[in-house]
Amino acid sequence: MNDISNNSGMQAYWMPFTANRQFKAAPRLLARAQGMYYQSDDGRGVLDGTAGLWCVNAGHGRRRISEAVAEQLDRLDYAPSFQMGHDKAFEFADRLSRIAPAGLDRIFFTGSGSESVDTALKIAIAYQRAIGQGTRTRLIGRERGYHGVGFGGITVGGIVNNRRVFPTLTGADHLRHTHDPDRNAFSPGLPEHGAELADDLERIVALHGAETIAAVIVEPVAGSTGVLLPPKGYLQRLREIADRHGILLIFDEVITGFGRLGAPFAADYFGVTPDLMTTAKGLTNGVFPMGAVFARRAIHDALMTGPENAIELFHGYTYSGHPAGCAAGLATLDIYAEEGLLTRGATLGDYWRDAMHTLRAAPHVIDIRTLGLVAGIELRSRPDAAGARAYEAFVDCFNRGLLIRVTGDIIALSPPLIVERSHIDTIVAQLRDALSRIA
Ligand code: PMP
Repeated sequence: MNDISNNSGMQAYWMPFTANRQFKAAPRLLARAQGMYYQSDDGRGVLDGTAGLWCVNAGHGRRRISEAVAEQLDRLDYAPSFQMGHDKAFEFADRLSRIAPAGLDRIFFTGSGSESVDTALKIAIAYQRAIGQGTRTRLIGRERGYHGVGFGGITVGGIVNNRRVFPTLTGADHLRHTHDPDRNAFSPGLPEHGAELADDLERIVALHGAETIAAVIVEPVAGSTGVLLPPKGYLQRLREIADRHGILLIFDEVITGFGRLGAPFAADYFGVTPDLMTTAKGLTNGVFPMGAVFARRAIHDALMTGPENAIELFHGYTYSGHPAGCAAGLATLDIYAEEGLLTRGATLGDYWRDAMHTLRAAPHVIDIRTLGLVAGIELRSRPDAAGARAYEAFVDCFNRGLLIRVTGDIIALSPPLIVERSHIDTIVAQLRDALSRIA
């Protein structure tokens, strides 16, 4: 294995967040990937329990996607997307509009989840202005929400570390999060308690006035902060309150989109349709950095069909609708459709849930949450070192051939949707062993 700390050729890469600090002490290099497995640079197979970073939903090394990208790059490698276009972007948007939750059939392409979030927030504000609601500029997020790292995203996000040293947009406010292990620990499905937390939006309306609020954004299932599930009825209630006050509802489906919950989108799973929906990750099976914002047609039309001097959406990216990304996305959608992956979590979800819940008796486990093919396993924190137990499990699992993700003292699992029962059994067995070894 390369010795990163002594190899001056490997000092230049500034890794995201503060990964270098840990990486220098214990480098973990991935060299190859195929199907459900990574291979580390010392040749070990590592079962991918996290679909990369919640994105490789169709599994690794899909030849169909790489061939589509190669073919596209040979034919048309790049095309400006301002005032002109290319066939693949129109085709991809059209295909997406057909699997979108009802009515969300206008698609704006971005380069990442963070860009999708900032795009959706800007669309919300521009739309409010276009319909004569120009005082509505306030954005509402939720505690423990993660919406990427743009200034809009960290403003509505609710992870303190992401905001500690940065100024955020003015006027934002936050709903409380819905994580309540005291009342809901080990719920086999959605938590029973907590729908009333949606009334926080009423409280915020009473405080600031509805006429100041443009939109509220939530992850239907909060992913990065540890798989926090919405209590039964919570999202419906949020939808009702937002409607009552003319506030746009945005679902951040960067993680939940493209089959994670056993339905194409969380909006389908919960039967609640937002006004705007942000996606990325599974959009291209993680192989190309790309995101997409799905918008209600009326929102698009208000910004696109007004008179010449009307408010328009002055916003876009050099890489919006990139030809290679669209080719990757189209091939990805083909695979999802042919292999039934967007609903695979509906059939395999019970097996996944029951397997995960066998860990209830394992040491340190204080809650288990699953939905579709995602799981969060919460450990009791070590009093002297929060997060230490989960990190220990992560290192132990990786060394023994399983990739998990940890956030604080929560283990998050989200395997590629091609996962088989045998993989699930392996994940659970390895985790059980790892938990039993933790101090
Ligand atoms: N929103 C959510 C819900 C996410 O989980 C993430 C990434 N984990 C983002 C936004 C940001 O996406 P990206 O890292 O592609 O900018």
